[in-house]
Amino acid sequence: MVIDSIAFARLGHELSGTLQVGSCNRLGQGLPLPQPGTVVWSLAGRIEPGTGGAWLDVRAQGAVRVVCQRCLQPLDLELRVSRSLGLAESQAQLDALDALDAEGPGPDAEYMLADPHLEVLDLIEDELILAMPFAPRHEQCPGPAPDGVPAGAPEASPFAVLAALKHGKH
Ligand SMILES: [Zn+2]
Repeated sequence: MVIDSIAFARLGHELSGTLQVGSCNRLGQGLPLPQPGTVVWSLAGRIEPGTGGAWLDVRAQGAVRVVCQRCLQPLDLELRVSRSLGLAESQAQLDALDALDAEGPGPDAEYMLADPHLEVLDLIEDELILAMPFAPRHEQCPGPAPDGVPAGAPEASPFAVLAALKHGKH
C-alpha cells in the first residue's frame, strides 16, 4: 500500500486497516514467537489551516508480545500510537522547520520528509517500533522471579540492558 504523502494530505484522504504483528519483521526482531497480536491502524491526511502545512495523523493500537524485563516471561503489551507527522517537501525545508522549531512541533508530533512513494505499512511499523518501551514489565509479574532477581526489584539498569544487547550482536 503506497501513497504520495503530500497528495494524500492535501486531499484529506484516510486509510485504515489491521496488521498482523507476526508479519512485521523489523518490529519482531528480538521479540518472542509466536506473535499472535493484531494492530488496528489508521492514517489521515490534512492541511493545517493558517500555515498550509501538510500533516499525516497516524493512529495504531494493538498487542505486541515482549519479554518482561523483571521476570523474563512473555508479556502481551498494549501499544498505542497517536502521532502527527508534518511533511517537508525538501531536505532544506525539513532543516528549516527543525531549526525554526527548536523544541519540535510537540511531544506527539514530528517533521519528516514527504515521500511520493510512502509505504504505509512500513510507516505504521516504524511508529510502533518508536512506541516500544525500553524495558517493558508486567504491572504484576505472574510467577516467582528467577534466581538472583528479587521480586519487585527496581527496573533493570538501562546500561545492563544495553550491554546485553551489544553482547548479543557479537
Ligand atoms: Zn514480569
